[in-house]
Amino acid sequence: MKQIYVFAEGNMEMRALLGGKGANLAEMTNLGLPVPPGFTMTTAACHDYQQQHALSDTLLAELDEHLQALEQATGKRFDDPTAPLLVSVRSGAPISMPGMMDTILNIGLNDQTVQALATLTADTRFAYDSYRRLLAMFGNVVYGLSESAFDDVLTAIKQEKGYTSDLALTTDDLKRIIQAFKQLYTDAGKSFPQSPKAQILAAIVAVFESWNNRRAVIYRRENHIPEDLGTAVNVQTMVFGNAGEDSGTGVAFTRDPATGKRALFGEYLLNAQGEDVVSGVRTPQPVAVLHEQMPEVYDQLAAIATTLEQHYRDMQDLEFTIEHGELYLLQARNGKRTPAAAVKIAVDLVNEGLIDRQEALMRIEPKSLSDMLHPEFDPQALAAHDVLATGLPASPGAATGEVYFTAAEAKAAHEAGHQVILMRQDTSPEDIEGMIVSQAIVTARGGMTSHAAVVARGMGATGVVGMHALSVDEHAKTATVGDIVLHEGDWVSVDGTTGHLYRGRITTTAAMVKESLATLLDWAKAASRMGVYTNADTPKDLQQALAFGADGIGLTRTEHMFFQPERLLQMRRLILAKDAEGRKAPLAALEKMQEQDFYDLYRLATGKSVTIRLLDPPLHEFLPHDLREINEVANELGLEQNQLRERMAALKEVNPMLGHRGDRLAVTFPDIYAMQVRAMMHAVFRLADEGVTVTPHIMIPLTNSETELRWVRRLVSNEIEQMTSAKGIQVTYEVGTMIETPRACVTADAIANAADFFSFGTNDLTQLTFGYSRDDVGSFLPAYLEKKILPADPFQTVDTEGVGTLMKMAIDKGRATKSQLPIGVCGEVGGDPDSVAFFDSIGVSYVSCSPYRVPVARLAAAQATL
Ligand code: ADP
Ligand code: MG
Ligand code: MG
Repeated sequence: MKQIYVFAEGNMEMRALLGGKGANLAEMTNLGLPVPPGFTMTTAACHDYQQQHALSDTLLAELDEHLQALEQATGKRFDDPTAPLLVSVRSGAPISMPGMMDTILNIGLNDQTVQALATLTADTRFAYDSYRRLLAMFGNVVYGLSESAFDDVLTAIKQEKGYTSDLALTTDDLKRIIQAFKQLYTDAGKSFPQSPKAQILAAIVAVFESWNNRRAVIYRRENHIPEDLGTAVNVQTMVFGNAGEDSGTGVAFTRDPATGKRALFGEYLLNAQGEDVVSGVRTPQPVAVLHEQMPEVYDQLAAIATTLEQHYRDMQDLEFTIEHGELYLLQARNGKRTPAAAVKIAVDLVNEGLIDRQEALMRIEPKSLSDMLHPEFDPQALAAHDVLATGLPASPGAATGEVYFTAAEAKAAHEAGHQVILMRQDTSPEDIEGMIVSQAIVTARGGMTSHAAVVARGMGATGVVGMHALSVDEHAKTATVGDIVLHEGDWVSVDGTTGHLYRGRITTTAAMVKESLATLLDWAKAASRMGVYTNADTPKDLQQALAFGADGIGLTRTEHMFFQPERLLQMRRLILAKDAEGRKAPLAALEKMQEQDFYDLYRLATGKSVTIRLLDPPLHEFLPHDLREINEVANELGLEQNQLRERMAALKEVNPMLGHRGDRLAVTFPDIYAMQVRAMMHAVFRLADEGVTVTPHIMIPLTNSETELRWVRRLVSNEIEQMTSAKGIQVTYEVGTMIETPRACVTADAIANAADFFSFGTNDLTQLTFGYSRDDVGSFLPAYLEKKILPADPFQTVDTEGVGTLMKMAIDKGRATKSQLPIGVCGEVGGDPDSVAFFDSIGVSYVSCSPYRVPVARLAAAQATL
């Protein structure tokens, strides 16, 4: 089978075989764009290499043919003393992994051809500059010589000469550097191959090997990219951005990757090559400046940007080089962007008629939405802090944390439970592990397309780069701004929208949904079968969820309301009372408080359905734990210490989660549920007086049988009926049940007789189906995941096989009894996109999840329908 394709033979559909870079170079070539000629060695060749650890004879023969063809096409020849052909050897996997793998430029230069290039271009400095770059890249990529060893040589000579920039290096300096670089090879027992062919072969092997380098492996794990894709290799004729002040190299995005705003966005450097722009070594100019410096080139670039966007129907990330005023495209791909930019771009592309709504909905990763709902700094708190320094706002967000100066230290601090911010001079792909765990990334150098900026945006982390006032000394573990010194572990706050850095912790406020996201969520809602509700115990939660477009409350856990100090006291009075008489006073006090809780929620929800679950947890959770507390409570309640201890001992259970909780409490202490129902009705009456109609949805936890549910239901409706007839009004209400025990699933047809709705409590159901105590899984679940005995944590992503089958059974049985029975899911997995898709497939009517996951679940619900 053919293992090499010239660019004109490929197209963008061939990315599995040609890699993303190769497929797009092919596509651009066929679009007639100025792409330097070259060819792509396939991922199949990579697999072949990985198996044999050698390049096969057939591949070598094919390579020879293509190298000759390239010589013919360019009219230059390898090793030619007058017109030497130079190429780059570039990695390119089917899924883009920016900066993770290797590329070598200027291949074909050696001690002879460097002189030929000098004569040919009448520019000796340029030729030697290209050669020293080749020596450094080749040494690093092929022989694993450390990049910093080469950097140190360069820095030493610059220091000796008092230069501030690489551009000041003269031809003689460069020749010295080349000698020193060769010495680095010799010191390592290596030599630089003079034969261009040998260089090419070594480079190809190195690129294939780089698929398995450590940072690439970590990047794939983090981004869920399969291990077995392999990489293609592109061999491409060199064009030179370092050929003088009328040459340059740059990176451009067709829209702003941080905000999604429509405008050509990017950076370039004159007289520079390859990685100079993204490596942060020199801080590049914004592309807008090119408009002044080379208006024709700028216009051509802008036109190409438009062509490519129209063609790919998405925002593109372009790499270009200008050689003596001539523009060349070296790469195009769908640009990485922040979640917020992704949403804005998708919505804008619909409005521009390039894609339809369905495609816009499918393009956004549901999980990424929670990353874009950044909290913002509280404006008042912010006003009390002075800006320490300002950089480029590379990735939005408001982050606060302790500062660390190396990736390894950031990672260690994170593992020790700290909230960290990584601050570096600049970042390289080696820093990936530290970046993953950081709230924000701050660099002193680099531009908007630097490695740090791209990675921060990709991860949804806050990012500020090019903060020139900052100087980081990773060895001393300090960073300085003017005369202010930051030490490792100091708290700082970073605003990725303004680029400001502050000292100290600044409090944040709730996130708001911005315009494009609101539009996208509207489209998602219109497209989905399932509703999306929120779990909310407080008006604050509810407010946040409503801002995110929740359809109502799917679960209010009333027990959380009892943990405030003055309520806890009443709760303890209640639990510890000797008899019904002793319970009266605390019940009355609690009833008043709950009435206000329910009133607030109902009022805020206006017209949206609110489901309130009656008390669920074991009573001992409300009791004091340590000696000091026991003393205090005994005093507060006017009990003897040993009386209290006796009561506590009586309530103690061996397995509280399987004990006296949920509706079992209603059977033994009916007055607690009765109190909650009364509080609810008082709230309903108050709102009725204000002209607001509420239909309470009352949910009974832990039901096991129809008889049990009927018993509790009678308790609830007796209370309601007594109150409504006394008040003389009609209130419609619904009484439903949680389905969270295997027995409830199996007998759901009977239970449905007594229920107006079901709601799966997936946490308890998972716990009881597996027999895993949710509070104890920490000791064994990680081992199950690591040994792949479980595919995922069933408390995070629903176990479709076991728990899912029980749910399906319960739905079918429930609906056999009542065909229109509303069935929800509340619990952790209600906001997990994979689980949401599964729930849609088995006929769940709605999910309920924590407020910040409402947009995630909404989009997942839409994607499940599309
Ligand atoms: P990465 O995948 O890390 O971006 P690339 O293969 O795209 O690596 O190479 C990095 C940079 O090297 C490119 O952006 C481009 O500036 C430069 N480069 C690669 N090939 C050539 C070439 N044939 N001529 C000029 N510059 C090149
Ligand atoms: Mg590239
Ligand atoms: Mg439960």
